[in-house]
Amino acid sequence: ALAPVIAIDGPSGSGKGTVCSRLARQLGWHLLDSGALYRLLALAAGRHGIGLDNETALETLAANLDVQFVAAQEGLHGQRILLEGEEVGDELRTEQAGAGASQVAALPGVRTALLQRQRDFRVAPGLVADGRDMGTVVFVDAPLKIFLTASAEERARRRYLQLKDKVAGVNLSSLLEEIRARDERDTQRTVAPLKPASDAILLDSTELSIEQVLERILAEVAARD
Ligand code: C5P
Repeated sequence: ALAPVIAIDGPSGSGKGTVCSRLARQLGWHLLDSGALYRLLALAAGRHGIGLDNETALETLAANLDVQFVAAQEGLHGQRILLEGEEVGDELRTEQAGAGASQVAALPGVRTALLQRQRDFRVAPGLVADGRDMGTVVFVDAPLKIFLTASAEERARRRYLQLKDKVAGVNLSSLLEEIRARDERDTQRTVAPLKPASDAILLDSTELSIEQVLERILAEVAARD
């Protein structure tokens, strides 16, 4: 039988990333950060001089993408990610990498090339899958699907707090603009647009702490055991 999977979708800044990594750790399950795959592809394209609109070349690059996800160590937050053997940490989290990811993610051939790679993460004892189309495309049969949102203003504020000590010159209003532009691209695209699966539980985190979001999801997990 297939291992269980919790599909968690939503826009950037909804708290998804933190919630998913803590959930995976707490359950002792694997974690799929599918956004990182698209970010890595955009990054790799830059390194290989491939344009973000060159679908054929990006498809080949996606199919052969040399990435490794190293599980988080005890006490450390998040996993280590290697691209072509080299650790890519903060570079991957920049708004620029996110925008590049959103561009390559709009190409159908790219999404198809990354599909099986994502499904391969589903192994015992279980998987927490973080993305935009986990519940609608990649793991349609997931027994638990969550759609996590928050207002654009709150998401920009969270992103700002995340970046302000790491990146010089971050600015709240331009982050809000970028988030709105990315939302627009992600929800309006024809292939796998960002939308809740019909059987997803909607969770608005605007007024909730990470702990409260976690508590609600864990209650749903417990209700299914
Ligand atoms: O979640 P994250 O911000 O890392 O995702 C970066 C971009 O990758 C998103 O804006 C989206 O365009 C794309 N993405 C996607 N499908 C996923 C995960 C991410 O299209 N499952």
